[in-house]
Amino acid sequence: MTLTVQPHRESVGLKAGQLLIDGQWGPGTGGATWTHHHPATGEAVGEFAIATAGDVDAAVTAARGAFESGAWSNARAGKRIKVLHRYGELLRENAEQLRALQALDNSVPLSFSSTIYATSVEAAADVFDHHAGWVDKLGGQTLPPYQGGDHLAMTFREPIGVVAAILPWNAPFLLFAQKVAPALAAGCTVVLKPSEYCTFTVLRMVELLADAGLPPGTLNVVTGPGDPVGEALITHQDIDKISFTGSRAVGKRIVEASAGTLKRVSLELGGKSPALVFADAPNVGLAAATTIGAVTMGLSGQACVANTRALVHRDVYDEFIAAAHGMAAAITYGDPFDPGVISAPLINERQLGRVLGYIEKGKEEGARLVTGGERLGGDLAAGNFVAPTIFADVSNDATVAQEEIFGPVLAVVPFTEEEEAVRLANDTEYGLGASVFSADAQRAFRVSRKLRAGTIGVNGFQIEPHLPFGGFKQSGLGREGGLSSIEAFTELKSVYLPLTDELM
Ligand code: NAD
Repeated sequence: MTLTVQPHRESVGLKAGQLLIDGQWGPGTGGATWTHHHPATGEAVGEFAIATAGDVDAAVTAARGAFESGAWSNARAGKRIKVLHRYGELLRENAEQLRALQALDNSVPLSFSSTIYATSVEAAADVFDHHAGWVDKLGGQTLPPYQGGDHLAMTFREPIGVVAAILPWNAPFLLFAQKVAPALAAGCTVVLKPSEYCTFTVLRMVELLADAGLPPGTLNVVTGPGDPVGEALITHQDIDKISFTGSRAVGKRIVEASAGTLKRVSLELGGKSPALVFADAPNVGLAAATTIGAVTMGLSGQACVANTRALVHRDVYDEFIAAAHGMAAAITYGDPFDPGVISAPLINERQLGRVLGYIEKGKEEGARLVTGGERLGGDLAAGNFVAPTIFADVSNDATVAQEEIFGPVLAVVPFTEEEEAVRLANDTEYGLGASVFSADAQRAFRVSRKLRAGTIGVNGFQIEPHLPFGGFKQSGLGREGGLSSIEAFTELKSVYLPLTDELM
């Protein structure tokens, strides 16, 4: 039977996508549109407007006007807290529709989006609740006079201003929340650009913000591809900060583009995160299932922090590979609305070609293909499906062990000594995450401290709203989550105030 997602479009309430500028939804000024093709079926799912440079300028002007009006940044703290909490409730109330819209956008199956916390609507709602709690607690310091005498030295946290928030397509709930919640909690205004491969979900999330009571102009949306829409945004003179999640290549472009007006920048980029599986791992089968699961289930390895490199002690190497192989064989593909389907296709044909190219490179470079390595056919031939792929006996300097593939490909590298494992783990340009599987708590902590990565899981891994998340090295700049994230949407101001004329 041919796979189709068309019957879900109406029941989900998918409508043509528009821009949101100063509280008004509209098609923009250019008349150009983007047709979204479903990654599992190739079908045209819907259309949305492509913003022009003039639309982007209007959105930035609206955000600047809203910022200067103080309608949000100067509103009573109690009102802002209420809006953010109400929004969290609205997300929870609309979770089913949002998950369905996501399935139409990026084909992440409902079975996954309703069970895995980090990428769930519930996690996004929790992020808003968490940040609502900071609104009335963003304090500064009062310092004792350094030079003696009678004066006050104080610091204040002030909102950074107008933020450009740019999202990738893979985890819209969490990534929207990790940017918009701290930006709003800090009192900023926002121009948001969703990915062209995941727009409809984000537009619905934005609609709900107005229902929660966010004043018009506080958050504006421009839709369309990176070039021209993203480019118009990151090069705009009146943006104070760019908060970006996406690929390393675009991250570097954003750093360049920010130089003109010295915009503040935070970047959440890619990774090649290792799982270190020691011989004393409490359950090698579970370590293997967790590792290959993150590379194949749900997003089909299109997750920044997935452990796509497994460094496995030689004593448990065969056991690990056998368990990972068994788990790979259990991954199911197809209609994201089918409860029996647990994984997704690759997002587009470009990504499909890239992943298949890396698989060929792995074979050429001599890695042993344990399973997978090909595109799925039959009923799935119209989609961008690639079979779960495991390469064993991989050298850590091989391409498949060094580059972010963003597909269902696990590279397994053997090791013997703990020091060797740490060296291999750190031998990468990236540093987003890592997992350590060991029953020896001293070893687990010793190794965790030596790993050059932003988030380490010991015998398991979760992203939580209050825990900073981000990358060492080329995995990014700055952190999202917790207080450090809100502070990154503020400027720190020092005020010096003499209390007598003598010090003036
Ligand atoms: P991408 O870099 O291709 O696109 C991300 C966003 O940037 C999209 O909205 C895109 O339209 C926009 N963009 C593209 N070119 C632009 C330009 N010149 N100027 C401004 N904006 C531009 O990434 P993607 O394919 O959407 O997502 C996959 C990447 O995201 C992977 O590398 C993955 O590791 C990374 N990612 C990182 C995290 C994290 O938290 N560290 C989370 C999810 C994804």
